[in-house]
Amino acid sequence: MKLIVLLACLTFTVCSSTHNQSTNEGYMEHMKFSSTSKCSTGKNQSPINLPNPVPQYGINFKFKNLEVPIRVQKGRDTGHSMQWDTAQEDEFKLYIKHSYEEYAFKQVHAHHKSEHTIENQQSDLELQFVFQKEGATGTDDLAVVGVMCNTANSWDAPREQEAFFRDLKRTYKSQDRRGYWLRVEPFLKSLGNSYVTYSGSLTTPPCTENVKWHVFTGCYVPEDWLNEFALKVAPESMKANYRNVQNRNGRTVCTTRNQRGCFYNEYNKAPSAEEQLMAVLKELRSEFQL
Ligand SMILES: [Zn+2]
Repeated sequence: MKLIVLLACLTFTVCSSTHNQSTNEGYMEHMKFSSTSKCSTGKNQSPINLPNPVPQYGINFKFKNLEVPIRVQKGRDTGHSMQWDTAQEDEFKLYIKHSYEEYAFKQVHAHHKSEHTIENQQSDLELQFVFQKEGATGTDDLAVVGVMCNTANSWDAPREQEAFFRDLKRTYKSQDRRGYWLRVEPFLKSLGNSYVTYSGSLTTPPCTENVKWHVFTGCYVPEDWLNEFALKVAPESMKANYRNVQNRNGRTVCTTRNQRGCFYNEYNKAPSAEEQLMAVLKELRSEFQL
């Protein structure tokens, strides 16, 4: 009997795709990571495994112009994800405080399951809000806010989060050329202040580096929302559309930052007094060009 199943598998590729439903081999092949050199040779690639975020209090960055809902276009299937593009360029911004840089919101898209892992655990969904520095083009100067979400019953998910996912779903169901309102402020606020930052890359070719990642936890996606998008709306594009975690290559993952830089890093270990002193000296040296 086993032999018959094996022969059938060899003959019909459908068999292997059924077996591989929970793996991402099909996605990895579809995205052709190996044909783009940066994806295979880059030393600062994303996603990576992350430590558990600890609360940080608005030291790193802030969102601008979030008082009113943002406007997005109808959700679209890009062939490898569901994506919602901005319909009001330059309104919603990410402001990185220590470098005084402003990044304008471009689009939000979904990975199922998550690309980043927290303590080696994948989440059910990762939303990625993509921002780009003013004046930059192509894949230059990007900043991404990743939101790790696990499934919950609609009534168990925080109200603001349930409303946000409902907004996303509405854009897909109806037709309005002026765009759709997305209540993103209450959604982002409901996540709390637990996030980590690090320097990484795009998780799809051309895998451009120098992407400023901010990864939040604390999100619950209603189970019926995820099922609808992953099984009905975009089953092919949302099927295990995540890249495998990449080597961290000694990069610092910031869980707490103060004015002088990243002080609690790398898996929540606080640096020694000596390391802190070295960091301050390094900064002073570069400031006064010693
Ligand atoms: Zn992505």
